[in-house]
Amino acid sequence: MGEFDLIKRYFTRPARRAVLGVGDDCALWAPTAGQQWAISSDMLVEGRHFVSTVAPERLGHKALAVNLSDLAACGATPRAFTLALALPRVDAGFLEGFARGLFALADAHDIELIGGDTTAGPLNICITVFGEVPPGQALLRSGARAGDAIYVSGSLGDARLALEVLRGALSLPGSGFDAARLAMEMPQPRLALGQALRGIASSAVDVSDGFLGDLGHILHRSGVGARLQVDGLPRSALLAGLAPALQRQFGLSGGDDYELAFTAPASARDAVQAAAAQAGVAVTQVGTIEADPGVRLLDARGQVLPNVYGSFDHFKS
Ligand code: ADP
Ligand code: MG
Repeated sequence: MGEFDLIKRYFTRPARRAVLGVGDDCALWAPTAGQQWAISSDMLVEGRHFVSTVAPERLGHKALAVNLSDLAACGATPRAFTLALALPRVDAGFLEGFARGLFALADAHDIELIGGDTTAGPLNICITVFGEVPPGQALLRSGARAGDAIYVSGSLGDARLALEVLRGALSLPGSGFDAARLAMEMPQPRLALGQALRGIASSAVDVSDGFLGDLGHILHRSGVGARLQVDGLPRSALLAGLAPALQRQFGLSGGDDYELAFTAPASARDAVQAAAAQAGVAVTQVGTIEADPGVRLLDARGQVLPNVYGSFDHFKS
């Protein structure tokens, strides 16, 4: 099968909202009047972002999910995406599974694939997502203010737990591993929460490289610091069997969580919980923004813990 047959067979579906979808030199899109575009790209490289044994269907899901997570963090509504793919060979089983997982998530959020590029090469997946947000209402990293409460959605650490089991560093009973692996391979982008937090949250970021590091982006861009209740970080029951130090580490800097970390004024506490309820996701307050730069980590007794927790950096680790 050649390049163009491959694109036609696996990645071409009738255009819906698009004026023109896959098949010409450009896609055409008529923007909704009065909305701004929110645009983001994420690339997944085999061996770096996923293991070669992952089910193709889950890989298709995750490639789109990590991109949608960025739109969620901005409070945007996703509309369309492009897909640039490098494939070592034409493997029908892989492509069918990949396309199924990709389009299942796309359909769940009513977004369409409008174009891309396909080439031979080491397996590499780059998606660009296009979303819309009312002007001035996007959630940014720069809006946190001293006194704001810090929240995180869902729970943290499961994806890292699965990774360590895959690496052979930890072991889990089979059912626990399946659940942790699901968290790692099928993250659910918090789009409904991000949109519900427009006008309520003062800042937001999605947790991809580890909570502490990603919160650090908010602190840096907002010119503030934070105090965190480390043992109050939401963690799933899967982590319960781990040593307390490891539970803290996976919560603070596990990575691949794709939850939202955000801040809101103390007066918005009820509005935050109403937004979470509307979105069907739990949110937990885990700390407070302070004017003093840096992060103070506190244990359950209020004692300050040494901050030995790194975040993921492709060029440092
Ligand atoms: P060009 O040569 O102009 O770059 P291509 O021949 O690479 O265009 O692609 C042909 C059409 O198929 C274009 O509309 C392009 O957007 C689309 N396309 C290519 N690869 C993909 C893909 N993986 N998924 C969706 N659309 C794709
Ligand atoms: Mg091309």
